[in-house]
Amino acid sequence: MAILVTGGAGYIGSHTVVEFLSKGEEVVVLDNLQKGHRDAVRAGKFYEGDIRDARLLDQVFSEQNIEAVIHFAADSLVGESVQDPLKYYDNNVVTAQRLLAGMVKYGVKSIVFSSTAATYGEPESIPIQEQDRKEPTNPYGETKLAIETMLKWCDQAYGVKYVALRYFNAAGAHSDGQIGEDHRPESHLIPIILQVALGQRERLAVFGDDYPTPDGTCVRDYIHVTDLANAHWLALQKLRRTGESAVYNLGNGEGFSVRQVVEKAREVTGHPIPLEIVPRRAGDPAVLIASSEKAQRELAWKPQFNSLGQIIQTAWNWQRNHPKGYAK
Ligand code: UDP
Repeated sequence: MAILVTGGAGYIGSHTVVEFLSKGEEVVVLDNLQKGHRDAVRAGKFYEGDIRDARLLDQVFSEQNIEAVIHFAADSLVGESVQDPLKYYDNNVVTAQRLLAGMVKYGVKSIVFSSTAATYGEPESIPIQEQDRKEPTNPYGETKLAIETMLKWCDQAYGVKYVALRYFNAAGAHSDGQIGEDHRPESHLIPIILQVALGQRERLAVFGDDYPTPDGTCVRDYIHVTDLANAHWLALQKLRRTGESAVYNLGNGEGFSVRQVVEKAREVTGHPIPLEIVPRRAGDPAVLIASSEKAQRELAWKPQFNSLGQIIQTAWNWQRNHPKGYAK
């Protein structure tokens, strides 16, 4: 039987496809290529189109023998979600509802869902644990939380079992250098810093240096994309083994400020990376650091890339060799 990966041409999705193929899984990708890149999917079956296209979804479920779904397809930009919340309700919540309806219709009972640290909002304590208060400060986090809740009710009503994985800051690229991060326009910290190092931008705009953190810039927990990909496979093993739904944080458990990330990138690239302090970005909490103890305990997940320098180095290898990303 096959594993359906929605959004498998995206950043985390494409790394997960590679991870699943390396474990001998049969993979089917469904991606509308709005943000994803066809060249990021190097093997497996590929369907181009949108989950909200009922005919296409029927076609995928009826042509393929789908055992489980790994659901990435979504919009994921905090700032954009604040500007255009309805886009996020449509692309994230409506899409998940259609996917779940398809799963119920075709008797697919397992899903691993791509959730986020943004479900917590301003954390009540650090490191953040799964049961902590969830009050998202932006529509992105709100829509992901709504989907988690939808999953809980679908479990109860239809017996669809799920693992929701709350990622902290995904970063880095595959160590073979063939796939990596390529958003258009780029908005994520590490690729933007590396674009400065490549001379594609003059400087990094730092979104606020008046946060209640040691150097005033936001603190985040950066986790390597291959470690995230591996957690999806472990989550599927847990669903196969126990048939129990669960939620896990995924991070390294260590926080780095924007300034610290820049300093590390200066070491890796040898470029001075000039900065400019600009106003805060709407919806950004000051500090997000994960406790991933539950995932380590219950999934036997062990991040392999646990130094920020190593993570930035893999991103640098990808970006230096693909200065235009997937563009030819
Ligand atoms: N950030 C920044 N300048 C940029 C992009 C990001 O200062 O050009 C900051 C952002 O405010 C946040 C951190 O870097 O504190 C990580 O942002 P990113 O967009 O990479 O991930 P997010 O935290 O939104 O998931």
